[in-house]
Amino acid sequence: MLIAEIFHSLQGEGELAGVPSVFVRTSGCNLRCNWCDTPYASWQPEGRQMTVAEIVAAVRTYPARHVVLTGGEPMIAPGIHELASELHELGYHITIETAATVRPDGIVCDLASISPKLAHSAPDARLDVGWRRKHEELRWQPEVVARWIAAGNYQLKFVVSSAEDLKEIETMIQETGAAVPPGKILLMPEGVTVEALRARAGWLGELCKQHGYRYAPRLHIELYGNKRGT
Ligand code: SF4
Repeated sequence: MLIAEIFHSLQGEGELAGVPSVFVRTSGCNLRCNWCDTPYASWQPEGRQMTVAEIVAAVRTYPARHVVLTGGEPMIAPGIHELASELHELGYHITIETAATVRPDGIVCDLASISPKLAHSAPDARLDVGWRRKHEELRWQPEVVARWIAAGNYQLKFVVSSAEDLKEIETMIQETGAAVPPGKILLMPEGVTVEALRARAGWLGELCKQHGYRYAPRLHIELYGNKRGT
């Protein structure tokens, strides 16, 4: 499969924030979020072809016991099921970071980090109408999200640009038909600089307090800035 990067860092987002982890970033995505912070794995996918055995060997060179399969969209990478199973058999904790546009179909996973994309993710005129339509058709599939929720341990992570996004998030959760406890819903400010994150932190934190949602910082931005390999 095409791999953009494999690196050792601290998990920056979600309930495992701060945990040393090996990140395997597959290259290629079926969406084109306008604010995508990994364009080298989506808008302009790059990387090198690696076999599952090569990826596992690379992961084993690091001391971490947590592996994050991320992208791009890791669920469209050929061989992702086999990779997750092999790593799990070796005793690794597996997190899958996915926009939940592809069904889990039994993939081995200890934590599904589900990040459905809101309307504000729509790509602008840099992309042709075909891609903009595809993004809109695929980005929100409540039936697929419901399958991920039913499949095992999960967190639902939303990138929030403005307070108005809360209504959309609540509608989306209702549309899944799943009973999602507020503590499973993580709201993450949109932004790839410390300044942009701080500008949204105040009002977003207040909304989390009102609704019982979790505020999700982006630790890797605070520690390293928006750099590849972190
Ligand atoms: S789903 Fe993730 S990787 Fe794909 S375009 Fe959106 S933000 Fe980028």
